[in-house]
Parts: sequence; C-alpha cells; structure tokens
Amino acid sequence: MAETKTVDDESVGEREEVDKSPQAVEEAKAEAESRGEAKPGQRAEVSNLEIVRHYFNIAADHLKLADDLRTVFWTPYREVTVQIPVRLSDGKIHVFSGYRIQHNGARGPYKGGIRFHPEVDVDEVRALASLMTWKTAIANVPYGGAKGGVNCPADKLEQSEVQKIARSFMDKIEKVLGPTRDIPAPDVNTNAQVMAWLMDEYGKLHGHTPAIVTGKPIALEGSFGRDAATGRGCVFVFREAAPHLGLSPADTTFAVQGYGNVGSWAARIMQQLGSKMVAVSDVNGAIRNDAGIDANALHDYINKGGLITEYEGAEEIDPEDLIAVPCDVFIPAALGGMIHEGNADRMQCKVLVEGANSPTTPVADKILRDKDVYIIPDVMANAGGVVVSYFEWVQNLQHFRWDEREVNDKLGNIMRRAYREVSSRAKEEGLDLREAAYLVGIERVVEAARTRGYV
Ligand code: NAD
Repeated sequence: MAETKTVDDESVGEREEVDKSPQAVEEAKAEAESRGEAKPGQRAEVSNLEIVRHYFNIAADHLKLADDLRTVFWTPYREVTVQIPVRLSDGKIHVFSGYRIQHNGARGPYKGGIRFHPEVDVDEVRALASLMTWKTAIANVPYGGAKGGVNCPADKLEQSEVQKIARSFMDKIEKVLGPTRDIPAPDVNTNAQVMAWLMDEYGKLHGHTPAIVTGKPIALEGSFGRDAATGRGCVFVFREAAPHLGLSPADTTFAVQGYGNVGSWAARIMQQLGSKMVAVSDVNGAIRNDAGIDANALHDYINKGGLITEYEGAEEIDPEDLIAVPCDVFIPAALGGMIHEGNADRMQCKVLVEGANSPTTPVADKILRDKDVYIIPDVMANAGGVVVSYFEWVQNLQHFRWDEREVNDKLGNIMRRAYREVSSRAKEEGLDLREAAYLVGIERVVEAARTRGYV
C-alpha cells in the first residue's frame, strides 16, 4: 500500500488535479479517445466493463443462454451511488462519488471489495461486481458478487482524510449491507485499517458486527492469512499448472506489475518456493535485475517509504519495458487493462497469472494465446482473497479463530479444486481456461437462480 503524504500547499495542488469533476472526467476520456490506441505501459482504452462483457458473452453463447436470461445475469441487481462531501486539510470541501453495486445474489450474500482510486466510476464498479459473481461461483464459496468504490486519490491523502471518507461512505451505504446481505472487503488503496474504520462505523448503528467486513486487522477479528491470501492463491494455481507446462517453481523466473498487496505477497511466496523475481514495478516506476530481486527486502524497503526506482538491488527501467522482460511467469497485480493490443506482442513470458482484475483486454488475450502464453485468468487466479474472506466471515459468525496453517491448507484445497474443475472443463469442451472458468461460474449461478425460482 502506498504511503500517504502530509498535505502541504504543493500536494494540495496535486490533489485538486485528480479531484475530478464529472466534466473533467468526460474531457479526459474524450482526449484519451482522440489519442487512439493505448501505448505500452498505459491502460487500454477498452473499459473493464467491455472486457468482462466480452468474456461473459462467449460463455453465454457456449451455454446457449437465451437473451432474456442473459439480461438477468448480466445486469446488476442493485446500484447505489452516493455523494461523499469531505472537508480535507486544505480547508475545502471535496465532493467524491461512492458506489456499491450488487450484481447477483443467487448463491448467497453479496461479496466484494471497496476500491479508493480517482479512476473509479460506475462502469468500472459494475464490471468488478459482475466479475465477483463469477469468481465466488468458480471458487464455490456461498456468496454472490458485489463491488464498491470511491473516486478519491487515497494514496495522496492523509490517513485522517481517508478515515473521514471511509466512515462517510459506510454511513451512506449501510442500509444495503449486512452480514447476511452484503459484506465488503479491501481492494486497491484500501486495507485492514480501512476495514476497521468501516466495521466501527457500522457498529455505531448496529452494535459490534465483525462479520460486516472482511480483511480486518488480526486485532479486530480478522483472519490469519487474509492479507496474503490473494497472492498465495495465485501461487497455488500456478503450482497446480506448472507440471503440465514443464515448469518447476524452483527454477522459475517471474516479473510482477504492481507491488502492492497482491503483487508483493505473490512475489514473496514464489520466492519461498525458490523462484526468482527478475523485474517489478509499482505506480512510481519499474526495476530489473536478471540475477534476482529479493522480494522480502523490496517489500520492507517500500513499506518504510523507499521509492522503487531507488532500490539498490536492481537497475531502473522504463515502466513500458517491464512487460517485455523475458521471464517464465508474468503477474499483473496493478489495475485493469494494463495488457492490451499496444503491448501484448512484446510479452516474453510462458505463463500469465492474473493477480489483478481484468488486466488483459480481449485483443491482448488473443495475441497472447497465439503466442502460446498460458493464461490463468483473474476470475480463478485471484480468488484466494475472497476464499479467505469467506473463512474470516465463517470465523466471525462462530466467534472462533483458526490458526494460519489451517487457513492456508483450506485455501490450497479450494484453489486446487477450482483449477482442476476449470481445466478439466476446458479440455472437455475445447475451450481456453478463461472461457471455461466463466462457463463454470455462469452455470452455477444460473442453477442457483433457477432452483430458487428467480428465473
Ligand atoms: P494495492 O493498492 O495494494 O496495490 C496496487 C499496486 O499497483 C500498488 O503497488 C501500486 O503502486 C501499483 N500500481 C498502480 N498503478 C500502477 C501502474 N500504472 N503501473 C504499475 N503499478 C501500478 O492493491 P491490491 O489489493 O494489491 O490490488 C491489485 C489488483 O488485484 C487490483 O486489480 C485488485 O482489484 C486485484 N485484487 C485484489 C484482491 C485483494 O485481496 N486485495 C483480490 C482480488 C483481486
């Protein structure tokens, strides 16, 4: 997680630049469109929503899902948009937009993270909510899918300001949440501390309710293993795939795009298996060292406020070139749309393990498959977070705590099972892993909705 800056005159100026009015957002989009295709290192112009819809449609075609059912299973059940006016330390009231979108609850309470990022908008949250519906079904945990977000530049704000935004957001959406209704979790720029504030705010109205959010601190009934779970889950699925690809984790090289929660945990766990990180980036830049970059030392260095580009154990490279570094495994763990038609053909990895949500556009997906890159898709690869969120919720409901080994063992069982189910379905139906994953997810949601009598 990026360090927050103390607000001084200069950073207030920066913050106002990203504190976008609807008009500014529209102007930025129009300008981006006029530039045409995205350049390497930038996000694609195709939206997360278009990416998820594309893959949903392929699976729906394969399942011969009728048009009326497609509408039911594509459109969200409930969308809440709220205004979050917060006085920041520049003395001005800044008005942010907050969203909570509940996509489908046929299989259980809605579940999904909350993202604080200036680029959050309703379409992005819709895409991520729908992705959660398929992800919880693929992992076979008893949840539906939801997502939330606030379009604030959390990594440029003081902690006290982030706290104000988090509490105000909870006050405005609590009516649609609840431990048997909708349970948020961390996502980009939100962490265990933000979850603690959300839980505390909910508790003011409803009494102490730990099961209202997951990804909480250990001191507040969080689960052991939750912080590492998404990165660990990525490594579990890679290990399951590796023997079929002729790879051994002990001889594997890898690169990571985005050294936050997911990326840094995936890297540290890969390193425990003997794999070597040869390149890595975050929002501040990228570095490379073919002899290996120590994942633990880099994590500690960044956590203490160090700038990735000044890390001594590697040389700085252009972030646009990260994608072209030769390696066995590439782990995108930043934002959506980072692998697109403008850079996919430069990739030199054998396996893409999608830690981020929607990192690969459909055109890039095709380019990579034509290059025989084996893609372990986001809906399966990064499900570890929601699986351990499920464990945390179960522990909270029972007021009981499992030890970390138990959590990690159970996570491994679920991730391996999901990988096996999806890969055997892919073989049976002649599909790639992503198509098969969506197929399995949609099928389970449709079955639950039919059995309930929804459709
Ligand atoms: P995070 O905020 O902890 O980390 C994000 C990282 O990406 C940071 O290191 C940031 O510096 C970096 N980044 C941002 N823009 C970048 C750019 N242009 N180039 C390179 N790096 C950039 O967030 P996270 O929780 O690790 O989430 C990362 C991704 O994983 C997101 O797509 C999220 O939706 C997905 N995900 C997260 C979880 C979870 O449990 N946290 C679960 C499933 C999926």
